[in-house]
Amino acid sequence: MWLFRFLVLLCFTFLLLPSAQGWSKEGHVLTCQIAQELLNPEATEAVQALLPESAGGNLSAMCVWADQIRRWSKYRWTSPLHYINTPDNACSFLYKRDCHNTAAQLNMCVAGAIRNFTTQLTAFPKQGPDAKNNLTEALLFLSHFVGDIHQPLHVGFTSDEGGNTIELRWYRHKSNLHHVWDREIILTALADYYDKDTGLLLEDLQRNLTHGIWSDNVPTWERCVNVNSCINNWAEESIKLACTWAYEGVEAGMTLSEDYFDSRLPIVMERLAKGGVRLAMLLNRVFSENPKGGFGSSI
Ligand SMILES: [Zn+2]
Repeated sequence: MWLFRFLVLLCFTFLLLPSAQGWSKEGHVLTCQIAQELLNPEATEAVQALLPESAGGNLSAMCVWADQIRRWSKYRWTSPLHYINTPDNACSFLYKRDCHNTAAQLNMCVAGAIRNFTTQLTAFPKQGPDAKNNLTEALLFLSHFVGDIHQPLHVGFTSDEGGNTIELRWYRHKSNLHHVWDREIILTALADYYDKDTGLLLEDLQRNLTHGIWSDNVPTWERCVNVNSCINNWAEESIKLACTWAYEGVEAGMTLSEDYFDSRLPIVMERLAKGGVRLAMLLNRVFSENPKGGFGSSI
């Protein structure tokens, strides 16, 4: 009887949980697969040294870990680190104004988390896995949060919780605007164009990075003189895209389908690719013996 009650309670707990925050599993896996392919030998070695054995050398296998543990009591403090709430309709991001949790603690947002875990990882080349912080966790958090900051609605408006409270229909089923950007657009693309095979979608993204529509833009995407300004720029890009593409023309209760999907899919694909390129850029620099550009002790 107790077991039955426990199972019923467990089911309700899952039903009542707020919808997913952050790219879906597919989005995070794609971001990390793109990044891992772009790592230099030093960073590849460091990532292999830090990954838990269960990952089988595959960073993307651990890129949803930060979502899986965020409700455990030990990690509940990390929950605000997945997003940024900005003032409604401001369509801008200001670190001091916006990067805090509900208790007004500064740095407690996704931009602050990326700063923090990047700084922690710079200890690796000198101290290796014996550094005072848990660098395995720092790597897993950083890899996840660089994905999140590129999901436009992770830098959304405060009153609608980045689109979470905007309930609507995606084609024929119920959803909400945040979830449309976390997952629905990616799943519809997989079903319509990639035979539901994430590997084929990944190949397409990689082809566009190496000799397709984005190949000329990659140097601009990964340019970073000062890491804190770069992270702020990524957040700024996201809220601007949230205003021009995610929220644009959307009202609660409406049905989003082909028109919205066709016009927003290129934005989602580019954000996944940018997230991967920039995660690789950060890892390549933090694991270098001679980091430049606001990395290392100057962060
Ligand atoms: Zn997340």
